[in-house]
Amino acid sequence: MEVYSLGSGSKGNCMVVTNGKNSVMIDAGLGGRTMMSKLAQIGILPHELDAVLITHEHSDHIRSVGEIAAVAPIYSHADTLDAIGRVVALPYKQTLEIDEKGFSLGSLDIFPFRVSHDAVHPMGYVIKDENDSVCYLTDTGYISKGMMKMATGCKKVILESNHDKEMLVRGGYPEYLKRRILSDTGHLCNEESALACADLVKEGTTEVLLAHLSENNNLSELAYWTTRSYLKKCGIGKEVKIKVASQRDTVVLS
Ligand SMILES: [Zn+2]
Ligand SMILES: [Zn+2]
Repeated sequence: MEVYSLGSGSKGNCMVVTNGKNSVMIDAGLGGRTMMSKLAQIGILPHELDAVLITHEHSDHIRSVGEIAAVAPIYSHADTLDAIGRVVALPYKQTLEIDEKGFSLGSLDIFPFRVSHDAVHPMGYVIKDENDSVCYLTDTGYISKGMMKMATGCKKVILESNHDKEMLVRGGYPEYLKRRILSDTGHLCNEESALACADLVKEGTTEVLLAHLSENNNLSELAYWTTRSYLKKCGIGKEVKIKVASQRDTVVLS
């Protein structure tokens, strides 16, 4: 399977997972024009998407959900679809309610799981086909044993590496916002991401995409090296590919 991060960060998130036969988008948080042109650049037509899986209702994940719903079905938890429905009218026939039970879309098996974030029912996703497995885990304040269980064994993992704690604490954000980000229902910091990454690599993960970086409280080099040096310290992961997702550029795991 190939994973295309069309854009990832505090300002908008949109990813595509495809095995050539079936394709799903995870989140539609980029601007409509940007999303459509980036899709075209990777050779996927919007109506070829089997589903658009939405993680939660924050605007950086649903900005263009209305546009993409015109051509592809939107899958999310019922409470999330309700919350989205209050902001943008989705064509009823184009929405499908899912929960933590797995389901299939052609050659892809999809397993949604609950994450910890200040949204009505935030979820991550594991996507598998007969050869490969991808876990998408962002927008979570911490990683529970249950989340870890879902991610364990996946060859490719997209893992939140939102902020450097020091940069956040010393930076100019108002106190309430710092507390929100640092809380159990906020975002994952570089160090927490590195710890999880080491555990996953020990269990067979070979490619990691660090994602959802904060524009103000992180640097891609910092996210990369926090994880890379921690793996080195553990004496593992030399052969593991680590990439950092970008807000502007498409980044590929293949
Ligand atoms: Zn969020
Ligand atoms: Zn987000």
